[in-house]
Amino acid sequence: MTDWRQPDIEGRAAIPWQGLRVCVVGARVVGLSAARAVRGLGAEVTIVDRYDDQVTTERAAPLVDEGIHVRLGDDATLPEGSELLVLSPGIPPGAPIVAAAREAGIPVWGDAELAWRLRKPLPDGSYAPWLPITGTNGKTTTVKMLAAMLEADGKRTVACGNVGLPIVDAVLAEEPYEVLAIELSSFQLHWTESLSPLASAVLNVAPDHVDWHGSYDEYKKAKGRVYENCQIACVYNVADEVTRTLVEDADVIEGCRAIGFTLGTPGLSMLGVVDGILADRAFVDNRQHTAAELGTIYDVEPHAPHNVANALAAAALARAYGVRPEAVRDGLRAFRPDPHRIAFVAALDGVDFIDDSKATNPHAAAASLAAYEDVVWIAGGLAKGATFDDLVSGAAKRLRGAVLLGQDRALIAEAIARHAPDLPFVDIGGAGDGLTGAEAMTRAVREAARLAAGKAAELGPAAADAPPVTVLLAPACASMDMFVSYGERGDLFARAVRELKAERE
Ligand code: ADP
Repeated sequence: MTDWRQPDIEGRAAIPWQGLRVCVVGARVVGLSAARAVRGLGAEVTIVDRYDDQVTTERAAPLVDEGIHVRLGDDATLPEGSELLVLSPGIPPGAPIVAAAREAGIPVWGDAELAWRLRKPLPDGSYAPWLPITGTNGKTTTVKMLAAMLEADGKRTVACGNVGLPIVDAVLAEEPYEVLAIELSSFQLHWTESLSPLASAVLNVAPDHVDWHGSYDEYKKAKGRVYENCQIACVYNVADEVTRTLVEDADVIEGCRAIGFTLGTPGLSMLGVVDGILADRAFVDNRQHTAAELGTIYDVEPHAPHNVANALAAAALARAYGVRPEAVRDGLRAFRPDPHRIAFVAALDGVDFIDDSKATNPHAAAASLAAYEDVVWIAGGLAKGATFDDLVSGAAKRLRGAVLLGQDRALIAEAIARHAPDLPFVDIGGAGDGLTGAEAMTRAVREAARLAAGKAAELGPAAADAPPVTVLLAPACASMDMFVSYGERGDLFARAVRELKAERE
């Protein structure tokens, strides 16, 4: 019999759970579900967390009654005799407990690896295929689009992973799912070794979380792991060379194909766009001469270019699984984007106000800026080590004004000085100037509206479907210096816009 500690792409190894001493790191949603799952199988489980604040303590308390040992704060070290270490997403590779596990020679699994090893067979003895998606930006959106397409085709499925429901819960669901749409972060992928997805996608890769991974190279490598042992299709972004290279470097199952998605005309084995129609030249008979129609770009909400790319990536995975073309279209029509992702807030005096608070890094902000012709841009916050030169130089011709707020706004101001020196911009200030998030956002919206009104007057009346100017909140930065979350930042933006509208009407 093979050793359960070895990678096992079949994922059905008889793991001797009964009495196995498992340590789970991280007492949040994913850690709790992992601990409960293996405890349920008879393992001897300890959950550890270096935080011992009230919230963590209260969250972990009920586990004790379930026979799980809880160790918090300074006590959160690897218990003597542990035989398996399971990590919540985000636990850095350099954490002392990981070093201790390596020292002890025990396996270290992330929650995705654990979930793979816990899969239950469906009534026919097969296992629900995995369709994982990773990328620097667009993961949540794409996973949810994919789930909508699978549902439209009548499949029992769920969007899981980083989107909310832990993968462990999805694979152990009482009523089993037929197929899983899974969002995987680079943190989760760093620890995978056995996954063998039916088809997987990398949407795009730009530097992010470099501090966690140690280098950009390591970050890319982690993303590329999503293609390892892939069975049918490795879906890559034709416009992003890195994603194609990751496919080339992956060790896949014999016969697995590389499938590209593009906003241009699709080549063979690609999905793309022809005269506004989403076209599949990968999963059709006679690919040389025919394509399947999967709807139009107007079925994608919102149909900004990057979001059409997300839809094509989701469609590629759905088609790899066998979803019918009409179900791809119906799924897109049924799909509703999550809040704060290029969400339309209001139109005021011929200016549209758009909330893309979720654009928390320059790559995401670049994609949203590219979707509008004339933009007054609200940006700033925590830069997380990012630089803004490429972003500002790439967007300069669309920018009509900028309003900057938050801790690292000077970095953006400097990039504007270098690449768009004539751009009018307003510095709102940050927490250091005694401003609350609400105050800063109210001022930002008013200044942006002022800049936009001036430009709108210059540009003349709007075309039927395009306002002359868009005020776009796409901060390119994290929010936590002034806001609880990107969600609160977006909500305060929307509130300020509505207040302004109410005053004017
Ligand atoms: P993730 O789960 O990867 O954070 P989301 O779907 O939540 O991705 O989208 C986050 C933000 O990333 C969006 O608000 C948008 O600004 C940007 N974005 C979405 N899709 C893409 C894409 N394909 N390329 C670049 N940026 C994107």
